[in-house]
Amino acid sequence: MDGRRSRIVRMRNLKVSFKTANGCVHAVRGVNLDVYHGETVAIVGESGSGKSVTVKQIMGIRSHNEIVEDGTIEFTYKDKEGTPKTVDLMKLSDRELTQLKGSHIAMVFQDPLTSLDPTMTIERQLAESLILHTDLRGEALHARCIELLDMVGITDIEARLKSYPHQLSGGMRQRVVIAIALSCNPDLLICDEPTTALDVTIQARILELILEVQRKLGIAVIFITHNLGVVAKVADFVNVMYAGKIVEAGTAEEVFFDPRHPYTWGLLSSMPSVNADRSSRLYTIKGNPPNMLNEITGDAFAPRNPFALDIDFVKEPPAFPVSETHWAATWLLDPRAPHVEMPQQLRERIAAMKEEGEEVQA
Ligand code: ADP
Ligand code: MG
Repeated sequence: MDGRRSRIVRMRNLKVSFKTANGCVHAVRGVNLDVYHGETVAIVGESGSGKSVTVKQIMGIRSHNEIVEDGTIEFTYKDKEGTPKTVDLMKLSDRELTQLKGSHIAMVFQDPLTSLDPTMTIERQLAESLILHTDLRGEALHARCIELLDMVGITDIEARLKSYPHQLSGGMRQRVVIAIALSCNPDLLICDEPTTALDVTIQARILELILEVQRKLGIAVIFITHNLGVVAKVADFVNVMYAGKIVEAGTAEEVFFDPRHPYTWGLLSSMPSVNADRSSRLYTIKGNPPNMLNEITGDAFAPRNPFALDIDFVKEPPAFPVSETHWAATWLLDPRAPHVEMPQQLRERIAAMKEEGEEVQA
């Protein structure tokens, strides 16, 4: 984390809602997100907190009933001449965005089958993507297909190239999807729960693969998961999302070892531990996330927060800085707030994690 980090994504005040028969769902309520070249940024939070909707804005993927109410997404890249450029992705035309994505941004989704065409061989799908994004043709194209499949750990490549998606296992398919994502030499790879649909042992291998590729190619990765154990393994930075907002952000160490938002305390406490007894959780967060059809007053987590102050129900907390890289939006960090510490059990658990480098369960 030195001064030479250069930013690739700077998202500010992103607000997205959905028109539904029941009213307006306020899915993303003012998200700020920074991603730096070559680093892995995780977004964690319960299902429905707005993680997917947030990152899909970078790709310009929206459903018909989706309304972008506000926000900028500055993306910094080098053009063909190597000159650094910054553009607001929200202001590009569809064509400009498609072009930019084609050479700089790729995304891997949860379910590999939805990203592959069942009627085309693996080679054809890889080749189509390469033809779109590069000048490679003929033998060079074939060679690049082989190289990409090799990079994602696929063996018996010539046979695999002739296969159709249904002839491959789930893990293998996700490797192919990652290979296609890498075919445009992206600077940014967005992985939205890339292992959730896979079984546990395969999950670990795909994660290792993403990490390996990230390090080898030096690309930036946005990694979405609801699995904190995974985050501890892969992330440089962690953003904790709740009810359409980032409530805490910092380096993985800061968020895991020095969490400040009671929601983060809850998440960390509810993370299963392998060291103790297999299924042991200290705690589960009581209650449910708020109904996003309603306007939220104050801190959205207040009704579930055992440490809530009166002000939490009235006024939204600003982001209080903890360090240069760490902040949390909780009134507990206001200098006027009473001194509240994280629950003793969580404190002990973090101390143990630090000492033993505890492996958390995937
Ligand atoms: P996460 O990825 O964190 O699980 P999402 O970003 O998918 O959550 O969804 C955030 C919120 O937006 C959820 O409340 C979800 O129900 C809502 N949402 C997403 N897509 C739509 C849609 N097309 N119509 C209505 N609501 C939607
Ligand atoms: Mg999602």
